[in-house]
Amino acid sequence: MSMTDRKLNLILFGPPAAGKGTQAKRLVADHALIQLSTGDMLRAAVASGSELGERVKLIMQRGDLVSDDIVIALIEDQINQNPDAAGFIYDGFPRTVPQAEALDAALASRGMAIDSVIRLVVDDTALMDRIKTRFAEQGRKDDNPESFAIRLGNYNKQTAPLLPYYVAQGKLAEVDGMQSIESVSTQVGDVLKMIKAAKSPQKKGFFARLFSR
Ligand code: ADP
Repeated sequence: MSMTDRKLNLILFGPPAAGKGTQAKRLVADHALIQLSTGDMLRAAVASGSELGERVKLIMQRGDLVSDDIVIALIEDQINQNPDAAGFIYDGFPRTVPQAEALDAALASRGMAIDSVIRLVVDDTALMDRIKTRFAEQGRKDDNPESFAIRLGNYNKQTAPLLPYYVAQGKLAEVDGMQSIESVSTQVGDVLKMIKAAKSPQKKGFFARLFSR
């Protein structure tokens, strides 16, 4: 087993406003992982007024997805810039099957792999309620009702098909995203404990011995 193989690579998965960012931030604080949020990276680009920002601004406001090439490049760049990280949490990425395939390839070429995809399950009515509150409180441009409907539609069309992709890899874990932030965080933590145990060198040794008999 290579050293990099010990690094955690975790995807937080779910529709817009499911609570991925909130949970990612808690994992960063509790487990020294690095959060890679393509939404945050793109918003930073827009705020900086960079050429990239200008290119994605209206697409994001509308609630549409920016092109796969752009977000894949952003993610690869961050992986390269953090060679000593204990691991990564992907938040809002991948959102399409080509993005998922590119991530698998990028990790494989660096001796890593996705350990688990944690899906926050939240029903659409609850999402609508949350987004109304967030729009009122924070005024994020793409939280307006029209853009949000487009985001939800894109999630169902382009992102939900990733579920069978990760089920086929045996990597999907589901948590009840309708519970309190605290309770969701406990559920996510439990998944992480299992993954960490399965990755620990002792455990790998144990299974290796078991299967070599
Ligand atoms: P959400 O709350 O919808 O999960 P994000 O902050 O993750 O929002 O993303 C905001 C917007 O940024 C998306 O609606 C989309 O325009 C763009 N975006 C973020 N991540 C991706 C991605 N992986 N692929 C394409 N577009 C993305």
